[in-house]
Amino acid sequence: MRSPDAPTPAAGESPDAAEARRVLLLCNACQFCDGYCPVFPALKRRRTLAEADLTFLANLCHNCRACYHACQYAPPHGFAVNLPRSLSLVRQDSYARHVRPAPLGRLFRRNGQVVLGFTAALVAALLLAALALIPAELLFARHAGPGAFYRLVPWPLMAGVAGLAAGWAVLAVGCSVASLWRAMGPAPRAALAPSLWEAVRDAVSLRHLGGGGAGCNDRTERFSTVRRRFHHAMAGGMVLCFAATSVATIYDHLFGWPAPYPLLSLPVLLGTAGGIGVMAGTAGLAALKWRADPGPVAQEVQGTDLALLVQLFLAAASGLVLLALRDGPAMGVLLLAHLGIVLALFLTVPCGKLLHAPFRLAALLRDALERRVSGRGRAATGSPARSGAPPPPAP
Ligand code: SF4
Ligand code: SF4
Repeated sequence: MRSPDAPTPAAGESPDAAEARRVLLLCNACQFCDGYCPVFPALKRRRTLAEADLTFLANLCHNCRACYHACQYAPPHGFAVNLPRSLSLVRQDSYARHVRPAPLGRLFRRNGQVVLGFTAALVAALLLAALALIPAELLFARHAGPGAFYRLVPWPLMAGVAGLAAGWAVLAVGCSVASLWRAMGPAPRAALAPSLWEAVRDAVSLRHLGGGGAGCNDRTERFSTVRRRFHHAMAGGMVLCFAATSVATIYDHLFGWPAPYPLLSLPVLLGTAGGIGVMAGTAGLAALKWRADPGPVAQEVQGTDLALLVQLFLAAASGLVLLALRDGPAMGVLLLAHLGIVLALFLTVPCGKLLHAPFRLAALLRDALERRVSGRGRAATGSPARSGAPPPPAP
């Protein structure tokens, strides 16, 4: 909900940016939430709030929602302070403005439909092409033993398409992050290596969803570590799936052992554990969204979030179903469906929610650099800093 006294945007400024500036200026005067996350100390280091500052602060926010539930000026108060929602909208706008190639930015307005529609269309196209190009007696035959997958999709084709898709994703994300970095203003001159290490550590551990141990407000005003755990399960599962693919590539290229591999082989064990982690994490995060208090949530960005969760869940589930049924006649169709979903995931990385990970890492790095320049230590996280303020309730 925006304030009935919503500010008039300056020339060229969006209403969401004007609202975020209004709320942040109130927060800078209030300072009650200073200990919750690095956004508030970063806000205090600024005398004015230019567009670059809003972009930086929005991407530094982890949307833990603690400041909404702690805020004495949140709706129905007339100030209508809703910082998580305001920063979510500015953050979403930063994805749209800095994604490269730039025309992809338009897709963020209806991102959920675009990402899921593209995924469904790509899988359907692959299956139709297979029905047209592969004889039915080959497509629906039982294929077993080493090299079974490549009898349907030749290895050079599979590896070539995967390499191109991965290259596209890396290049597009790299250019997008470079655009965001420039938009956040001149980089502070401080030691890069320790700042980068600190940023990576905070990003990987999701420190700013930890609330100093109490967790975040994933559903209500009660603090909980559930969201952080589901996110770790999902991210850890993705890492294990990547490790499984890497080991399989080494097996194939170095040792001449083509897939598929036995159930107790390293690639299958890593992939199975990764797939289960991704499915559990994405299902858990989707359930949390479903049950969350809508107050601090920007409904406008929910489609983007859910599309990525659905895409990841389908990629993991299709991989596990393929593993279970790979010796049967459905293997060909399942293999093509799994490859299509994974390919769509890579191709839509620049215009999907996965972009939040490198963008947030860039903001954490800038924050670490700024704190080194200003002589501040590591950002505190967990409770309001104002003397005498009550700590967050126990989980
Ligand atoms: S209580 Fe927190 S969110 Fe509310 S105005 Fe103060 S600093 Fe901002
Ligand atoms: S307390 Fe949480 S929701 Fe509020 S600004 Fe910080 S990270 Fe964002």
